[in-house]
Amino acid sequence: MSFKDLGLSDPFLKAIAEKGYTEPSPIQKKAIPHILKGKDILASAQTGTGKTAGFTLPILQYLSETKHPKYRPLRALVLTPTRELAAQVHENVREYSKYVNIKSAVIFGGVKPASQIATLRKGVDFLVATPGRLLDLHEQKAVSFKRIDVFILDEADRMLDMGFVRDINKIISFMPVKRQNLMFSATFSNDIKKLASGILRNPISVET
Ligand code: AMP
Repeated sequence: MSFKDLGLSDPFLKAIAEKGYTEPSPIQKKAIPHILKGKDILASAQTGTGKTAGFTLPILQYLSETKHPKYRPLRALVLTPTRELAAQVHENVREYSKYVNIKSAVIFGGVKPASQIATLRKGVDFLVATPGRLLDLHEQKAVSFKRIDVFILDEADRMLDMGFVRDINKIISFMPVKRQNLMFSATFSNDIKKLASGILRNPISVET
């Protein structure tokens, strides 16, 4: 099965070919068709499985196919537990969106917020962020969550370990109720299952 068979379109196939990927990984084969159909996903996936391409490619395709010619509200948000992971996910988003008109950005703490605020003001379709700084910027009205239609929680188990549950739930409370949700976690404790049941609607389970 090829990336094309999974339903990905030419601008993405070109970006994938440039990365040198010849075949989709198991999680990509299982998740991409469901994500393209707008389903919620609960995926068990370790780093190194290709999970990042597995969610960024179909979401970028959705964003580019439904883009408003004039407005650029924030429509997709990935939350990650650490800035390293945020930067890594954003690098993937940049590479895969090379041939489409989608703007992405990354937000994390530990750096001055001024340039992040300026970036957000210019308009971002797809944002990757750590929860604390994102909430600070939301309080300052530098970003709105009102038009988000895809929410992705990456490494949810690490998010819980780092005590981000309250922040996550707060961020979600500002989003529209009707949206697509994707959740990735390497492990599935009862706490993770509880978090998942509060966020996901009729999720499809994807295992690698
Ligand atoms: P991830 O699990 O998302 O952190 O990805 C692990 C690594 O696999 C990254 O360096 C990706 O660039 C790479 N990768 C993702 N998908 C594929 C693929 N289908 N074939 C080969 N490498 C891939």
